[in-house]
Amino acid sequence: MEQFDVTIIGAGIHGVGVAQAAAARGYKTLVVEQKELAFGTSRRSSKLIHGGLRYLESLQFGLVKECLTERKILLKIAPELVTLKPFYLPIYQQSLRRPYQITVGLSLYALLGGLSKQTQFNRIPNSRWTDSLDGLRTDGLKAVFQYWDGQTNDAALTRAVMASAENLGAELRMPYELKSASKTNDGYRIVLSQENKEFELDTKVLINAAGPWAGKILSRISPSQPQPDYQLVQGTHIIVSGHLSQGLYYVEAPQDKRAVFVMPWQGNTLVGTTETQISELPDECVPLQSEIHYLSEVLRHYFPRYGDVPKILDAFAGLRVLPGKDGATERAFNKPRETRLLVDNLQSPRMLSIFGGKLTAYRATAQKVMNKIQSSLPRTKQYADTSKLPLQPVD
Ligand SMILES: Cc1cc2nc3c(=O)[nH]c(=O)nc-3n(C[C@H](O)[C@H](O)[C@H](O)COP(=O)(O)OP(=O)(O)OC[C@H]3O[C@@H](n4cnc5c(N)ncnc54)[C@H](O)[C@@H]3O)c2cc1C
Repeated sequence: MEQFDVTIIGAGIHGVGVAQAAAARGYKTLVVEQKELAFGTSRRSSKLIHGGLRYLESLQFGLVKECLTERKILLKIAPELVTLKPFYLPIYQQSLRRPYQITVGLSLYALLGGLSKQTQFNRIPNSRWTDSLDGLRTDGLKAVFQYWDGQTNDAALTRAVMASAENLGAELRMPYELKSASKTNDGYRIVLSQENKEFELDTKVLINAAGPWAGKILSRISPSQPQPDYQLVQGTHIIVSGHLSQGLYYVEAPQDKRAVFVMPWQGNTLVGTTETQISELPDECVPLQSEIHYLSEVLRHYFPRYGDVPKILDAFAGLRVLPGKDGATERAFNKPRETRLLVDNLQSPRMLSIFGGKLTAYRATAQKVMNKIQSSLPRTKQYADTSKLPLQPVD
């Protein structure tokens, strides 16, 4: 029987992040992925490595500070994958927030980011509004703020972290699906399947990093584990023909005042996102026509040059895992984005499930996971520090 120290289900950003952290601490580590690297949410995000300016309004200061710290680290260790970009935040007569509120928010954002150069912000003078903002609507415009945040290719970042984990000795089995796992005296015996063949192996600790499938994984474990309250909320993006040369735009949807990003993406324009409650985990996450229409309306409103019917090249949807009861009506927009780490046993955890979280904070989350499971693992020598290991694109 093969034996691993740490076995991780799911090769999204969290799974590969934990694999890298576990291998860096010298553990025999396995990642099991049913389809391909970044098959789930980790290729369908807004692709931002950011503190999350809007989370300041819901007082999620800890999350913002952590994400800004991680942004700084990623800009240093992965300069080919994460780049600092100018973000423009326009305020109109009818906007929900006043310019002074944005000044306060950006000042706090800078403070939480350690007042580094990367956290500087300014107001764009009126004289530059028409010629240097990619054709942004100017009627009713009162102020435009410019600050800095990061942009990445989420799937490429996931592949790079997995490559780093493999360099440290972690193993990837793909495509293999976790079918079941049962508790043993010192860990879990797990059953994997590939093309109708089944394989068994033992692990001291099992990590459930299956993103939106995390609840489904829990239902395959024996003895049975309680399901936490969570909601699946779909977020759609559209890719539209047309280039933005100045940076990314953080606008307020005229329909419902939600924040929407309009971003340059591989020579075209990426617009997102939406929040659609999903009652059941779908086989495939498909953008709804109503979501595509909503995002096209936002783009059309702020950037009339895209025309009355923007040319949509593609659309994709991902699932957020947010706290709360399924079917609860509270707006997903206002829900906490903190990552929840749930264990089967507080004293000596043998299984840990990751619910929710941010792409940006994957490395910090992986450190927290390792700290939580450390008591169930043998002592080892730390080989590497993931905050210093360079990440390179692998394709
Ligand atoms: C619309 C949207 C926009 C977002 N934008 C941002 C952003 O701009 N910045 C940011 O920081 N965060 C963002 N996030 C959050 C971030 O994208 C997610 O938190 C992160 O990608 C989740 O990664 P994960 O590894 O937990 O899950 P996933 O990426 O979904 O990975 C789970 C993996 O588990 C595998 N799996 C499932 N079941 C099994 C099984 N039985 N056996 C084997 N493998 C299995 C799946 O195939 C999948 O590859 C966004 C999220 C959404 C939904």
